[in-house]
Amino acid sequence: MADLRTSFLRHLCQTSPQPLGLVVARAQGTSIWDADGREYLDLLAGMGVANVGHAHPEVVRAITAQAQAYLHVAVYGEMVQQPQVELARRIAQLAPGDLSVVYFTNSGAEAVEGALKTARKLTGRSRLVAFDGAFHGDTFGALSVGGNPVYRQPFEPLLADVDFLPFDEEPALERIDPSVAAVIVEPVQGEGGVRIPRDAFLPALRRRCTEVGALLIVDEVITGFGRTGRLFACEHWGVVPDIMVLAKALGGGMPLGAFVGPAAIMQTLSHDPPLAHVTTFGGHPVSCAAGLAALEVLLRERLAERAARVGAEWLGALQSLRGPVLRAVRGAGLLLALELATPEATRRFAAHCFARGLVLNWTLHHDTVIRLAPPLTIASDEIDRATEIIGDALRNE
Ligand code: PLP
Repeated sequence: MADLRTSFLRHLCQTSPQPLGLVVARAQGTSIWDADGREYLDLLAGMGVANVGHAHPEVVRAITAQAQAYLHVAVYGEMVQQPQVELARRIAQLAPGDLSVVYFTNSGAEAVEGALKTARKLTGRSRLVAFDGAFHGDTFGALSVGGNPVYRQPFEPLLADVDFLPFDEEPALERIDPSVAAVIVEPVQGEGGVRIPRDAFLPALRRRCTEVGALLIVDEVITGFGRTGRLFACEHWGVVPDIMVLAKALGGGMPLGAFVGPAAIMQTLSHDPPLAHVTTFGGHPVSCAAGLAALEVLLRERLAERAARVGAEWLGALQSLRGPVLRAVRGAGLLLALELATPEATRRFAAHCFARGLVLNWTLHHDTVIRLAPPLTIASDEIDRATEIIGDALRNE
C-alpha cells in the first residue's frame, strides 16, 4: 500500500499539495473502504456523483449487461444506440418545459462548452454573461465563465467578451442587453459556497433573458437529479431554462454529461456546417445504461423528496451546533454548507473529520465553507454518526 501511494504521488499528476490519499479498496452505498479495511462515510458522494449511492447493484447490473452487448461502436450521433435513446427520452419526459433534445458529452465542462457554442451559433451574438463565484468546469470555455479570477488568471487569455455580474443581485440584471448570446448560472452555487439565491432572483433573470433575446443556460451539474430536493433545482423557482446542463449524477457513477434544449435551439448543431460539434465518446453506451438504471432507482425510491425531508432534518441538527467556530449552516436538500470562522479552523476541522472516517472538504472558492453532499440514500444512523463526529470536531477547536 505504501508503494501504491508513492507511485500515486510520483506518476499521477498532482492537483493539490495535500491530496486525501485514501487508498480505495471498494465503495458501496455511502461508504468507501480503504486497503486496510477502514470504512469512511463519503459525505461528498464522489463530488455529487453517487446520488443513488456508490455501486448501486442495479447500476452495476446495467453496466455489466451493456458491456456484454457492445462498448463503443461509433462517434456520437451516427448510430442508433438503445441506451442513449432511452436515456434521452427519459430526460425529455422529466425536464422542465419543452427541453426535449439531448446532446450527450463525457463531462460537465464539455457540456458547458457545447451549450455556449450552441448559444453563440444560434443567436449570432458573441457576448456571454456569468456570475461572480460561479464554477462551470475547467476547459477553456467553461473556465472563461468561471467566476473566480484566481483560477482564470494563470490561463489567460480566455474567451473574449465575457461579463460577470454579482450573484443574487437583481438590479445588476439590467446590464444584460441585446448583445448577449447567453447567460449561464448555477441555480445554487456549489463551489461558490452553497449560495442559495433569494426567491425573486432566478425568475427575474429568466424574464430579463427573454426580454433581450439571450439564452438562459442553467447549469444543473451539481444540483441535478434530486440533490436539492427537486429533480432539478430550477424547479424550486418555476424557471424553465433555454438550455440545461447536466453531468455528475447523470451517469450513475460512469462519466457522462449532457446539454438539453428545445428542438428549435438544438437543431442549430445539425447544419451550416454539419458535424461542426462532434465527440467520439460522448454518450458512451455503458454510461447511458448506467445513467438510465440510476435514474429509475432515483425516481422509484423518490430520492428527491427524501433529500428534501432528510436534508431539512439534518440542517436543523447541524444548526444546533452553531457557536464561535461554526458561524452558519445553510442548505437545500442534501446540499449543505457549514461556514466556519477561519480557513485554519476549517482545515483542522476537515482533518479531524477525516481522521474519524468522514470524507468531506471545503468548496473551491471558499476555504471557510465545508460542503456536505452525501448520497441521497444516506441512512439516518449514518447521518447521526456524521453529526456526532462533526460535533466532536467543532468542540475540539
Ligand atoms: N458545473 C458545475 C456546477 C460543477 O460543479 C462542475 C464540477 O464540479 C462542472 C460544471 C464541471 O463538471 P466536470 O468536472 O464533469 O467537467
